[in-house]
Amino acid sequence: MAGEPQDDCLFCKIVSGTIPATIVRETETTVAFRDINPQAPTHILVIPKAHHRDAAALAAAAPEVAADVLRETQAVADEEKLESYRVVFNTGSGAGQTVWHAHAHVLGGRGLEWPPG
Ligand code: AMP
Ligand code: ZN
Repeated sequence: MAGEPQDDCLFCKIVSGTIPATIVRETETTVAFRDINPQAPTHILVIPKAHHRDAAALAAAAPEVAADVLRETQAVADEEKLESYRVVFNTGSGAGQTVWHAHAHVLGGRGLEWPPG
């Protein structure tokens, strides 16, 4: 069911503490942790605690939690003292999504080219 923890989901396991992560922030509805394979000096993932397969599914099922995730991207950027940063939601395998639990990438600490690859 949408929102319920999934046994085979890596990020649900990070939420439950079954798999360790470097957690930088936590709220009632979200967790933020460092990406294991950083693509920038700051590369943090912000996820809803509830399982939704991607950002669009999250926004449709729980718009208030989607807003919490966005709010937390700013909080992470503030904590990391980032003046500029990029928030990315890879959606679909063709766009590079590999984990099917909604997550925002917060990238910063270096110049970021536009358009991205
Ligand atoms: P995406 O490719 O957009 O689905 O993003 C998934 C991200 O999760 C990638 O940037 C991975 O490096 C990251 N990742 C995978 N496993 C872990 C883990 N155990 N802890 C932290 N980040 C992870
Ligand atoms: Zn999950």
